[in-house]
Amino acid sequence: MSFLSHLECAACGKKLEADLIRNLCPECGKPLLARYNLDEAADRTDREKIAVRKPDMWRYRELLPVRDRRFVLSLGEGFTPLLPAKRLGDSIGIKNLLIKEEGLNPTGSFKARGMSAAISRAFELGVKELSIPSAGNAAAAACAYAALAGMRSHVYMPADAPKSFATECKALGANVELVDGLIGDCGRIAAEGVKKFARFDMSTLKEPYRIEGKKTMGYELAEQMDWRLPDVIIYPTGGGTGLIGMWKAFDEMERLGWIEGERPRMVSVQSDGCAPIVKAFHNGDEFAETWPDAKTIADGIRVPAAIGDFLMLEALRESAGTAVAVSDGEIVDAMRAISRTEGIIACPEGASTFAALKRLNKNGWIRKDEITVLFNTGTGAKYTHLLE
Ligand SMILES: *Cc1c(COP(=O)(O)O)cnc(C)c1O
Repeated sequence: MSFLSHLECAACGKKLEADLIRNLCPECGKPLLARYNLDEAADRTDREKIAVRKPDMWRYRELLPVRDRRFVLSLGEGFTPLLPAKRLGDSIGIKNLLIKEEGLNPTGSFKARGMSAAISRAFELGVKELSIPSAGNAAAAACAYAALAGMRSHVYMPADAPKSFATECKALGANVELVDGLIGDCGRIAAEGVKKFARFDMSTLKEPYRIEGKKTMGYELAEQMDWRLPDVIIYPTGGGTGLIGMWKAFDEMERLGWIEGERPRMVSVQSDGCAPIVKAFHNGDEFAETWPDAKTIADGIRVPAAIGDFLMLEALRESAGTAVAVSDGEIVDAMRAISRTEGIIACPEGASTFAALKRLNKNGWIRKDEITVLFNTGTGAKYTHLLE
């Protein structure tokens, strides 16, 4: 069912056989990306065939990494609605605003896509035990799919993450360790267990397949817009797999002959309390410097150092996009604006995209009639304390 052909290092280009358990590039330590035989896929699949399949992300299974269908772990992830956000757009004079509502995914965030792909593939390759450092949503999603596979999961979470996340992971059968520090500190402690007990490391971009699940956001966007793409995509970026994944999807779909024409301008949104990508983008740097004392209420984008920084910066530049930092105050205002006009309780990360849109509207970067998609990456139901 999959046209997966090999893995390729995103930095040095080394090619590796795909049917072995792998993390980073053995040569240079950078992320590995999955590559497919797209010529064959173009011959043997088409958009019409996909259109009649079940509405979840596995409808794109030829371009996902699992070879044998029996290993697919699915909770109905993906094929989330693309909603017209008319009242929200009208409030600032933007005419063609849409929201991709990822809060409807299993465990309440788009992280379900990445974990469904990566844990299914790990399951297929025989992994029994996994480890994940996470601020919340990635852990919840990992634990859910691990439960479905009967795998053991170990979660390392910053102690100041919302308590509901730790409870959720425990309920899903995980072993949860709260770490006094940031996501990077969680990563360091998780790495000790990975080494000592040979657990599989599910950290962002430290295995090749979470990004494969996340790229389905790009496939869906095209399918839901009748195989055209919007003018602008505004996306909250932490580790960056959503942005990098969608950019990869556009590349693949062009080669499959499924889309043509201009690609969207990609906008990365971060909080001004942790904005390494925004800073690097505007400095013209290839890599981002670690952000000191990272602080923001938007846990999913509190990532002071991202291993895929160069890939995010590349996508932003190739797309003629930009990067915007907004304040926590603007994020909470945006949460209120979205809920009151569109009936969606957005997560702070997702709401940050509307805060960024307001800025880009004001400074003229975006035209009023451009088709613009905001990604609400998760449900705000886990964050109602911010609205009290
Ligand atoms: C993880 C997360 C993000 C950041 O996504 P990346 O694709 O890793 O940059 C944004 N929003 C939410 C709700 C998240 O959980």
